[in-house]
Amino acid sequence: MTRVRYAPSPTGRIHLGNARPALLNWLYKLRTGGSYVLRMDDTDFARSTRDSADGIERDLDWLGITPDLLVRQSERTALYNAARDRLIASGRLYPAYETEDELERMRARARLVNKPPLYDRAALALSDAERAALEAGGRKPHWRFRLEGKPVQFTDLIKGPQTVNTASMSDPVLMREDGSYLYTLPSVVDDIDLGITHVIRGEDHVSNTGTQIEIFEALGGTVPVFAHHNLLTDAEGQGFSKRLGSLSLSDLREQGFEALAVATIAVLTGTSLAVEPYADLAALADALELSMISHGPARFDPAELAALNARILHGMAFETATPRLEALGLADVRLWNTLRPNLQKFDDIVELAKLVTGPITPVIEAADREFIATARDLLPAEPWDETTWGAWTGAVKTASGRKGRELFMPLRMALTGRHDGPELKSLLPLLGRKASLDRLS
Ligand code: GLU
Repeated sequence: MTRVRYAPSPTGRIHLGNARPALLNWLYKLRTGGSYVLRMDDTDFARSTRDSADGIERDLDWLGITPDLLVRQSERTALYNAARDRLIASGRLYPAYETEDELERMRARARLVNKPPLYDRAALALSDAERAALEAGGRKPHWRFRLEGKPVQFTDLIKGPQTVNTASMSDPVLMREDGSYLYTLPSVVDDIDLGITHVIRGEDHVSNTGTQIEIFEALGGTVPVFAHHNLLTDAEGQGFSKRLGSLSLSDLREQGFEALAVATIAVLTGTSLAVEPYADLAALADALELSMISHGPARFDPAELAALNARILHGMAFETATPRLEALGLADVRLWNTLRPNLQKFDDIVELAKLVTGPITPVIEAADREFIATARDLLPAEPWDETTWGAWTGAVKTASGRKGRELFMPLRMALTGRHDGPELKSLLPLLGRKASLDRLS
């Protein structure tokens, strides 16, 4: 049984780039029939808020993600403390007393002699007496994980075989001076405790994976399978920032984009699959294999989102649209089928429906007055259906000698007041004879 997790830090609302791991995990769950954990990484008390966490839940719900389990790291400190104690007992976690200033000087010295700015493990050499003296002087330790300093290998489901050499890394700080945890340890403890089988996350975490595999092993946990996906960037190739307003999911929602369009773009950008409408997330899950995610960048194109949104609406069945049409008082299957090919956003239908219900201002050029009068006199008797437009304009063509644009455009302008819009063959029966007569007059 697979079990995946999405682990946002609730320090703001999530954007399109964050939606990618949220969805890739969800699709993997759908594909494998496993379960999905939403884990709030809220160990940073200063920046995490309950408001953000609640907002993230709403955003995921809008996308169609309904986690099987929700956990908050802020409620799981006892587990992390137990793991911490085990690592201390096995000599893998050690106290270090350097201040940020001292560390910065150390790094600067290393750079000067062209060495990598790695932590020199001076704290490991401290005697008990030296430690006691530092603490008596008011220094509080932060805690570092002693890396094995060797190549850590894993097979990534997206990127293939990977090697992270922990010899080229500083021993990571797992716990701050104030006893709070950084992301690294709680994540591993939770992945073990919750039985996470697959960790699907951004490729900015590849080197973390090297460290975390060592921690999994130090704690005797089963190492999950990893998959690191390319990150979404904006059109200029810049990463999304969490504070970037207009691409937050809540903003995209307010701008009227379909959740499915947003989800499809978040997932399919930067893969070998074409961006096109899918019936739902399950269909997307069936189509996408992790190996189809490309190794290059995933560049978000706003025009592609707009185009996909329109295509989804153009193909949307009346049954799917019904609840939303009812809310707008526009639940009519003929109206939907007539207007949907012209929708960019769902709510465009409110304006387009006015082409039928009015009021509209017919436009009749002086040069077309006689022509329109002829057309009006030729309006057939009801009942009208989809064949009425062809029969009527055929007769108008014969009577007036006009054809093509000359024939059709003045009729459209008179009937709708616009030079573009829905197919008149479908619109005419909705208008009916009386309204058509009025407009042509
Ligand atoms: N909170 C981490 C992040 O947002 C989670 C990374 C992970 O999936 O392990 O980057």
